[in-house]
This record gives sequence, C-alpha cells and structure tokens, in this order.
Amino acid sequence: MSQKIKKIAVLTSGGDSPGMNAAIRSVVRTCAYHKIECVGVYRGYEGLIEGDFKEMNARSVRGIINKGGTILKSARSKEFRTVEGRQKAHEALKKAGVEGLVVIGGDGSFTGALIFNQEFGFPVMGIPGTIDNDIFGTSHTLGFDTALNTVVEAIDKIRDTASSHNRLFFIEVMGRDVGHIALNAGIAGGAEEILIPEEDLGLDRLVDSLNKSRTSGKSSSIVIVAEGDKIGKNIFELKDYVDQNMEGYDVRVSVLGHMQRGGAPSCFDRVLASRMGVKAVESMLGGETNFMVGLMNGKMLLTPLDKAIKGKTKINLELLRVSDIMST
Ligand code: ATP
Repeated sequence: MSQKIKKIAVLTSGGDSPGMNAAIRSVVRTCAYHKIECVGVYRGYEGLIEGDFKEMNARSVRGIINKGGTILKSARSKEFRTVEGRQKAHEALKKAGVEGLVVIGGDGSFTGALIFNQEFGFPVMGIPGTIDNDIFGTSHTLGFDTALNTVVEAIDKIRDTASSHNRLFFIEVMGRDVGHIALNAGIAGGAEEILIPEEDLGLDRLVDSLNKSRTSGKSSSIVIVAEGDKIGKNIFELKDYVDQNMEGYDVRVSVLGHMQRGGAPSCFDRVLASRMGVKAVESMLGGETNFMVGLMNGKMLLTPLDKAIKGKTKINLELLRVSDIMST
C-alpha cells in the first residue's frame, strides 16, 4: 500500500444517522493501524471552514460504536456552497497538515466534497450515511437498517392498539424521494397497504383494498405512508378522505418523525460502518480519490462520487409484489 498521505480528516455532514459514530471510530482506528494521523472535524463543513479540528487516536473513539447520532456533530453549511468558504476550508486543512478528507453524509455532502476536490485537487472519499437508503452505489446506507428496526418496532406497538380497538392506522415514515423504509418496514410490520413515492396507488384503489381487507375478516388495518408518497394528499388529508369514504373504521394517524433517526445502531450498521471506514482509509492510502465506499452483493466497492450523486436508487419490484401478496 503506497502511503503518501500522512494525515486524514473525518467529518459528518447533513442529517445524522445511526452508525455515523461507528464509521468515525473505524476511520480513526484504521488510521492508527496504518500509523497515520487523524483529525476529527466538528460540525461538518462549518467546522472545516473554521478549522474546528481535534486530533484523534484509537482511544478517542472508545465507547461510541453503540451510540446513535455523531460525536463530531453535523451541520448544514451555507458558506461551504461559496468559493470563498471552500477556500477557507482548504487553508484550514493545509494549516493542519491534513492531506485527505473522509466525508460521512448524503448526496449533498458528496456534492460539496466533489466540488472541493475539483477546485483544489484535495483527495476526498465518501461514506454514505443517511437512513433513507437513497444513494446509488450501495445496497445499504449507514443507518437504514437501524431505522427499519425502529419503524418495525413502532408498527408492532401500534398494531397492538389498532387490533384492540378495530382501528385503521395511517403511519407516516421517512422517505421524501424514495420508499425503501416504507416498503421494507411495511412488509416486516404486516401492513395492509404501503404508499411510496415511486408508485401512485390512487385513492379509489386504497379504499377498495381496505374494504377488501375488512371483508376478508381483518378487524384492524395498518397503512404505511412514505413522506413523499404520490397520492397527492398528506397523511391527515388521507385520514379525512377514508373517514368520509369508509364506514365502520376508527381512523387514526401516527407520524413517526425524528425518532427514526435516533437510537443505537443495529449490529448490521455497526459492521457496515466498520467495513466502510477501513475501505475508505485504505483506498485513500492506496491513492484512490473521489470515490464513495459502498456495499454491493456483500462486498465493499468504490463508486465514483459523481455517479453516486447522480445515480438513482430503484425500488425492488419483487418487494412490491411480495407486499401485494402478503396483504391478501
Ligand atoms: P441528507 O441526506 O441528510 O440531506 P446531505 O448530505 O444530502 O444529507 P445536504 O444538506 O444536502 O445534506 O448537504 C450537506 C452540506 O453539504 C450542505 O450544508 C453544504 O454545506 C454542502 N453542499 C451541498 N451541496 C453543495 C454544493 N452544491 N456545493 C457545495 N457544498 C454543498
């Protein structure tokens, strides 16, 4: 492994997700393993511009693999969107002797990293951290699996009250552009219907389907709605529509919100974060730059950052079919 780089910085940017701490730990410890220096950057690109750095060693990251959120804090930085802001960030990195940057975040954070590389030739590497699983080049982003487990636990609890009172529950989960959380958690939680941004079910079909569920003997129903679903109504309007068009159901709404982002990362996310951190640092030490680390068919691989940013993830059509069959 060619080791031209002697010091790497790591930051977390954009929305936080469970597993970010495990990824920071992995980056720091992989640097320690290869005997290169590592600094943590506080508050994403905001801290990069201000030079808010902290030298980190293997012991600085003890006790964080099981913690949600990010010990480095995350932020959204307007200033980093300007050339002047990025210039300041470059100067701060140079002053600290940093020669490579690992960015843990979503596609916005990767866009910033790529522009930074294009302007200053500074080596960057991305680790996908977002619960939405909406990044091309990896089957799983960090935090997706944990968020699914959180949502399924919530659905199970809501089902208890739904079935005790013959209620119909609309449960809103995160996913503005993609329905990965809704589809997977919906199947796992036994939802009768799943509304996702990729598919417009239509209100009539929704009511038909709920009526069918009831005539088939179901006394309660759960409908999972992704934030960005295409049906054209928000979850409270959906409730009103069903209230007006279906009799005999007590319709309730539950918006899960930010609880989906928190909590201890699952075993899967901890292992994934550990693998991604090793791959990111070792790829950089091997001279690779402008890539995102991802998981594909069980293996770690690199996707050029521009492809990861532009590429779209697709919903698994087989899961849609499974969901249809399961709601029979
Ligand atoms: P999430 O998936 O949670 O939204 P994200 O990484 O996509 O995460 P953004 O808010 O889109 O979150 O981006 C994070 C930060 O990346 C921004 O606050 C900004 O500092 C930087 N960034 C995003 N787009 C650009 C850009 N075009 N040029 C420079 N910097 C950018």
